[in-house]
Amino acid sequence: MVLDRYFCQKCVKELTKNQRSCPNCGCDNIFVKKNLKGVLTLKGFRRIREKSAGFKKFVIEILKEWQSNKDKKKYPKGVNIYRVINKKDPTKDDSYQERIVDEKTGKICRDIKEPLNKHRKIS
Ligand SMILES: [Zn+2]
Repeated sequence: MVLDRYFCQKCVKELTKNQRSCPNCGCDNIFVKKNLKGVLTLKGFRRIREKSAGFKKFVIEILKEWQSNKDKKKYPKGVNIYRVINKKDPTKDDSYQERIVDEKTGKICRDIKEPLNKHRKIS
């Protein structure tokens, strides 16, 4: 949802939509601020964690990051990793999700969805 907000250019007092001049200083230069509400977009984010009582470290982790430390010959420009770990219900089919994308070719080299309790780390 986009909400416009109106401000006086001179004293920066917030005005209502229908005010043509500022009641505070009389200035009639009004600027509009576009305000985005309800949507949060994170570009290039690294990690988001939800913490909760009774869970070690985190309940849910969403990770998206670029890594260079994989196989250098196979992935000269590194890989992008997208991973979701949901500890709330480790038996759910998608409680562990991981996708690895080759930065150079854009090819998906790994794409898994499995219950977290069945997941084994692959080194
Ligand atoms: Zn003003």
